[in-house]
Amino acid sequence: MVTSQQLNERVALVTGGGSGIGKASAIHLARAGAKVVLADIKEDDATETKKEIQALGGEAVIIETDVSKEEDIERCYGNLIDRFGKLDIIFANAGVNGKITPIEDMAADEWDQTIDTNLKSTFLTVKHAIPHMKKDGGSIIITSSVNGNRIFSNFGFSAYSSSKAGQMAFGKMAALELAKYHIRVNIICPGAIETNIGENTHPENDELEKIKIPVDYPEGNQPLEHRPGKPEEVADLILFLASDASRHITGTELFIDGAESLL
Ligand code: NAD
Repeated sequence: MVTSQQLNERVALVTGGGSGIGKASAIHLARAGAKVVLADIKEDDATETKKEIQALGGEAVIIETDVSKEEDIERCYGNLIDRFGKLDIIFANAGVNGKITPIEDMAADEWDQTIDTNLKSTFLTVKHAIPHMKKDGGSIIITSSVNGNRIFSNFGFSAYSSSKAGQMAFGKMAALELAKYHIRVNIICPGAIETNIGENTHPENDELEKIKIPVDYPEGNQPLEHRPGKPEEVADLILFLASDASRHITGTELFIDGAESLL
């Protein structure tokens, strides 16, 4: 049976496809028939994702990419087009928490690193996709966070929250500007999801102990089922937004957080 969530012959780029939300989504898109390009700064992790996709009979290639660097993004698209000749879906998902640092202690370089990895990368990923997508249209999905608008919860996350709020605003501007090319742009805002993002970004985590959480912190205690989300649950949303099932949806923010953002 052909459904509107099948992606046969479509080419999907997943940034941060080596781990967590990106990995689960890449596998899900491949299962629906997409050819997947995994762009990650960690090639070893992306190799694991590729193996899982191949075990399902799917097609995946890895292009080692630092999404905060314009030359890497341009090289990534060049390689992708050489290999597949087109681009239909982008999941702009790679991101870091950054170090947990109070504003008064944060170095400008530290701020730049988080903003560049999360926000500048989103601009670069979208900008350099346009020449490849403007003829036939496509779907772009950006991973922001509940922290983009619910900024009370995390002391020490000013750069992260700012980058995530910026992604929301940028995604909506992009949806408006790119509608004429039939390129849809949507933003997802996950609550706490069970991934390695904490370990990947601040392994020696003593800072967490030092920072006072000002409210009854809801992470991991979401009203729906009192648990964090799973990457596979986000992947279901990504498949919907990537596919024709969402063909009239653009410029939206979709919260996937078990109502965490309402607390
Ligand atoms: P993760 O650490 O499991 O995966 C992030 C991936 O991005 C990794 O594979 C990492 O190697 C890659 N990456 C990091 N910097 C990169 C760079 N400069 N260039 C290319 N790749 C890079 O984390 P995750 O939880 O799956 O995070 C994915 C996205 O979801 C991030 O944007 C994150 O901010 C967002 N998010 C996560 C949560 C959560 O609770 N896990 C909640 C809200 C939003």
